[in-house]
Amino acid sequence: MAEPNESLPAANKSSPFYLALERALEQRGKAIADICPPNDSVALRVLHDYGAMFVGTENILPPPLCVFGSEEEVSRFQKAAGRAAATIGNAVIELQPAAMTALLKARAKARAAGLNISPRDGAEAARRSYADTVRLWNSRFLPALDHWMNVERLNAENAERLRALPVTEQVPEVLELEKEGIFFSKDLSKSVLYSIAAPGTSQHIAMLAFDANEFQDERVRGILASHGWFQTVLSDLPHFTYLGLAEDELPARGLKQVTVNAQTFWIPDVG
Ligand SMILES: [Zn+2]
Repeated sequence: MAEPNESLPAANKSSPFYLALERALEQRGKAIADICPPNDSVALRVLHDYGAMFVGTENILPPPLCVFGSEEEVSRFQKAAGRAAATIGNAVIELQPAAMTALLKARAKARAAGLNISPRDGAEAARRSYADTVRLWNSRFLPALDHWMNVERLNAENAERLRALPVTEQVPEVLELEKEGIFFSKDLSKSVLYSIAAPGTSQHIAMLAFDANEFQDERVRGILASHGWFQTVLSDLPHFTYLGLAEDELPARGLKQVTVNAQTFWIPDVG
């Protein structure tokens, strides 16, 4: 049985990330509680896992909320942020203008060096709509539900109850089950949030994320980093986030360096 307070990720207000976030939001006349309700465990988890985008350069518009509740909220934000489109291969990808400019520069540099930076899974590599995030959620949630029912870790009644819930209520229930090792990622070995974002929460909705096919090439990662694109979500290996900053500026933004599988991640320092 989990301790009651385990269901709520700790929000250490004096940690480097919270202090940097507070400063960043203050410049826009906002407080942390305005974007992430303090008692919402999903919102806090999202803030800790994907929060790097909130402390990036001033040339980007971070989302006004940790969790968007509808397509309408997402479209309003994406309109305000501005969308730049580019065709790479067969895919038309869209990003915030500053993010797109930096990506195309990085790509040109890679091409000049005989390398490539190309979108993974077509258009989905960059901007996503609210509906895209719901569809991706279902692509992990539904097969995992069937699996755990088949191996009798979930009974049919409970599985049906979960299936019938509104998507926003499925997320906290899944996070609870994952504490018991009932994982919902594609390979069922880790949290679903390391596989895809909860509906309404992706850095792709923010148009500040790009999934690159060439993520395993150290030279490509170096070129992306020198153009402000960093890996900021642990375990999501192809996923890069536009922060628009130099690497040596990241610690002052409350991000800490973590190395996993010889890849460098910059994640919120919430400890
Ligand atoms: Zn991604």
